[in-house]
Amino acid sequence: MRYISCLPDEGWQSACPRSLAILGSTGSIGRYALDVIRRQGERFRVAALAGARNIPLLAQQAAEFRPDAIGLLDASQAPQLRKLLPSGYSPDIMAGQQGYEAIASLAGISTVLSAQVGAAGLRATVAAAMAGKVIALANKESLVLAGGLIRACCAASGASILPVDSEHNAIFQCLAPGMIKNAPTQSRRQENAAEGTQGTGFCLPPDAGISRLILTASGGPFYGWSRAELAKVTASQALRHPNWSMGAKISIDSATLMNKGLELIEAHHFYGLPMACLDVVVHRESIIHSLVAFTDGSYLAQLSLPDMRIPIAYCLGWPERINSGASTLDLAALSSLSFTCPDEASFPCLALARQAQERGSGSPVVLNAANEEAVVAFLDKRIGFPAIAELVGRALADYASGIYSDYDSSREPESVEEILSLDAEARIRMKEVIRGT
Ligand code: MG
Repeated sequence: MRYISCLPDEGWQSACPRSLAILGSTGSIGRYALDVIRRQGERFRVAALAGARNIPLLAQQAAEFRPDAIGLLDASQAPQLRKLLPSGYSPDIMAGQQGYEAIASLAGISTVLSAQVGAAGLRATVAAAMAGKVIALANKESLVLAGGLIRACCAASGASILPVDSEHNAIFQCLAPGMIKNAPTQSRRQENAAEGTQGTGFCLPPDAGISRLILTASGGPFYGWSRAELAKVTASQALRHPNWSMGAKISIDSATLMNKGLELIEAHHFYGLPMACLDVVVHRESIIHSLVAFTDGSYLAQLSLPDMRIPIAYCLGWPERINSGASTLDLAALSSLSFTCPDEASFPCLALARQAQERGSGSPVVLNAANEEAVVAFLDKRIGFPAIAELVGRALADYASGIYSDYDSSREPESVEEILSLDAEARIRMKEVIRGT
């Protein structure tokens, strides 16, 4: 079993304040992170913020936290941003994908919260990995698209990745007390590198005794619905998640179970187990956020109210636990905790994701690109809810059949450019198919 990276070294652990860049600060993860940071006084310094679209909120956050650098996607919005900033405060404004990448690798920053939405987060995550940062990773698509590449970048630079996604964070919390404290840190890995013994990740002790990882899924808003009922689902229904408060894209992914499919791939890259050792169980209450099964029959689980501030605080404060602002769990008030198997016939995205990762090569890239385009089309009311899975399935079959112009579908994409060019072709094809439906 391998982790994607080593753990943050002692220098990072003891530095105060910890200097942070938050990529995607105006999205839901970014806003939760700032809420955690606000409670911590001098422990953190927000050195950079980046947000894609909501310029008024970005300006408001910048006025409060006074970062040295601000990133935005569209350079033409820079004058609007400057106008909204308090007088006498003039941070560096960095625009476009290149701006995000520059922020992710700024010398004065030790920790990057990667919380952009979708494949758009890949370049900046890779930049942070190449620059040797500690990455609190909320952008699961980075690993889905480029898990192998990011693992190689971490191995070369000594970068660390801590999982923000609640399921992967739950597993990290279960493993941390027994095993992670004995794991190599950056400095020890650098010593290993000097001796020529560095691999592409570190191995847990062979006696770790882990047999399976079990990701929990809430089942989304349409748990128990028939295929006929699902055909009539509207975007506003799909956006109403029963337990979690999240952005639009991930809410739709949760409704189709594609989110859990992407998380299986993410778990494979994080923890190094084969897909066959990764399970999903539907747990409607969203209290247990994932479990680790051991070879002796024991299970460890992490429980909390469904509040993203908990995994964010665990990553930002690691290895210490800090106040997240989340409410305590009233165990006596929980009437029961239930577990059932996912309905893969009504929600085929889960199996599609598993197949894509097992097939390998560029299939996870195509899966993700097709899904992102299908979600946009569904939110625009151009396709129905069941069409999301149907179209993703068709995109994967097309890719496997070898019709993509520039790609040998049996070969692993090797660079960010190759991955993003495959991503772009899959999107163009998907848009054409959607126009024809
Ligand atoms: Mg999750």
